Amino acid sequence: MSQTPQTLLINGEWRASVDGITQEVNNPANGTVIQTISQASTADVVAALEAADAAFPVWAGMSARDRARFMHDAMDIFRANLDAAARLLTLEHGKPLNDSIKECRYSADVIDFYAEEGRRIDGTHFAGDLGPTHSFVLRQPVGVVAAITPWNFPVDLLAWKLGPGLAAGCTFVIKPPSEAPLAATAFVRAFAEAGLPPGVLNVVTGPGGSVGAEMVTNPLSRKIAFTGSTATGLWIAEQAARQLKHVTLELGGSAPFVVCDDADLDAAVPDALRRAYSHTGQICISVNRIFVQRGVYEPFVERFTAAASKLRVTADGLAEPDADMGPMINAKAIDTVRQHVADALERGATVTTGGDSPTGPLYANGYFYLPTVLTGVHRDMRVMQEETFGPLAPIAVFDTLEEGVKMANDSPYGLAAYVYTADLDRAFYAAKHIRSGGVGININDITDMRGPFGGMKMSGTGRELGQPGMDSYMEFKHVRLRHRAPR
Ligand code: NAD
Repeated sequence: MSQTPQTLLINGEWRASVDGITQEVNNPANGTVIQTISQASTADVVAALEAADAAFPVWAGMSARDRARFMHDAMDIFRANLDAAARLLTLEHGKPLNDSIKECRYSADVIDFYAEEGRRIDGTHFAGDLGPTHSFVLRQPVGVVAAITPWNFPVDLLAWKLGPGLAAGCTFVIKPPSEAPLAATAFVRAFAEAGLPPGVLNVVTGPGGSVGAEMVTNPLSRKIAFTGSTATGLWIAEQAARQLKHVTLELGGSAPFVVCDDADLDAAVPDALRRAYSHTGQICISVNRIFVQRGVYEPFVERFTAAASKLRVTADGLAEPDADMGPMINAKAIDTVRQHVADALERGATVTTGGDSPTGPLYANGYFYLPTVLTGVHRDMRVMQEETFGPLAPIAVFDTLEEGVKMANDSPYGLAAYVYTADLDRAFYAAKHIRSGGVGININDITDMRGPFGGMKMSGTGRELGQPGMDSYMEFKHVRLRHRAPR
């Protein structure tokens, strides 16, 4: 019997890769190996795409009600094993266990939500203007979807794709991230155990440059659902354009957090703090830049710095499930934070807390960086223009709201933004003029599965969640019918 791990799911069968290549999954908090998994070869990816293509008429031909049953059954199974999946997620990503549990629960809710949305797919019909005609619009699944996800929310961001896509009747080849593939694979296992027909959902883990690239360029995939960096997203967009594939691209961000002088600082400070440092700042909607109106700038900086310096960084997210943050994902991620801090200091910024890795034996073998606050920042610094994707919060001052909004918009990205104010007119002005796919007013999260989520500018194209998230997995077919008086 083969010793190679059977972690690829192709046509309903858990398999090793055809060429036997494996990879280790490491714990970023201490460097230990959690598990060895199979790494797909190009031949495995092609087999997975062929399986998804063959399964497409079967799955698309089922009633939405039957598809919903599979999806609900899968989530019943997943919930029964949720603690184990959440523990895996904490081990492979480093996030404290409570954050992993929250992610797994939300992911299951998204699947259940879309299972029912699939049953509500309806269409438009209208009588024609010219003569006795009638038109109706069929919504049909786009076909095989290649879904590629990053390591920061490996379960959630998969659910955002599988939920609407499976409900619409699409079949999938998914590539979980190499850094954190285990919890996502556990999520998929629940679908397999629920008896999903073979080929409807296939998993190929491996490097983006080979496995991901084949999924994108092979003509069998008709839609690319991608969440990841802007650089990879741009490459995917170019490849997809050559075959006019559907794309949804959820890319990088640099969210501004705008605090007006009438804001309730008792809410603004902890909310900014949570959104800047939760998941060690490795969220696409993390606060990357804070802008505070002059009247409250000093108290805000003082309170934010004091609170940031007290955050609990854990080297064991299982033992400390309610810690504020864990490690970063890898050495490259830390390096970006270090570069952004060094660049800002060189150009005149000040570190008010953090600015380095924590010391001590607990942190010695992991990728840790302290919650860090910078003041005296300006637009020419890398931290103000690039996505840091780490626990770094630069704070700048503004005078008028118009200026604050202008500063918030001074970024190539436009995914999320947050505005804190007690004034409805200010709130509405900011919500209208900030160029981002979502704006939170006195709330530090723009995610609700019933509303669309996605980016403007270099943060992406298309929307996930909500009705647009469902529509993006369907073709709209206009059927026009001429009718006559019966003979
Ligand atoms: P990444 O682009 O390096 O990788 C994302 C995924 O793409 C991985 O699975 C990777 O293996 C794969 N990939 C890499 N090269 C590929 C290629 N040529 N073809 C196909 N697939 C390829 O991003 P990352 O570092 O894993 O994730 C962090 C980034 O994701 C950040 O920029 C973050 O803002 C972004 N992100 C965006 C959202 C959103 O909803 N907008 C959500 C989470 C993360």
